[in-house]
Amino acid sequence: MATERTFSIIKPDATRRNLTGKVNAVLEEAGLRIVAQKRIHMTQAQAEAFYGVHAARPFFRDLVTFMISGPVVVQVLEGENAVARNREVMGATNPANAEPGTIRKLFAESIEANSVHGSDSAENAATEIAYFFAGTDIVG
Ligand code: ADP
Ligand code: MG
Repeated sequence: MATERTFSIIKPDATRRNLTGKVNAVLEEAGLRIVAQKRIHMTQAQAEAFYGVHAARPFFRDLVTFMISGPVVVQVLEGENAVARNREVMGATNPANAEPGTIRKLFAESIEANSVHGSDSAENAATEIAYFFAGTDIVG
């Protein structure tokens, strides 16, 4: 097992309901350490670039509008198999399909407003972390 890092976002539906601390408690309970964190309000250009992989999906426009509808908290999480561990604790994209105790089951409002983003591979994690953080911002 290797210690690795992943990238996480607490989405606008969660910051709007003042759930940052509750989401972070679930992450920490799962053994993930928050080694960098900041609250930002993404620009449209940032959101479009971040979700560029989904540009052809029918929900892309709505997703970008949602992601810039309020502040988000961008984070770097560290731990054993952090990418997979975070995906596990996030739960399924659609909260209706998420396991009990997962962040999305506990907090998500809908398949779109589903409270958190998490990288889906170590390679994407590295790209996504570098998009929002300098190496000197991350203190493990
Ligand atoms: P995940 O966030 O679980 O990795 P995806 O990468 O497939 O899911 O999708 C990115 C984000 O796009 C989702 O977290 C969600 O906010 C939104 N999304 C995904 N599928 C849909 C959908 N069918 N309708 C509306 N929004 C969606
Ligand atoms: Mg994804």
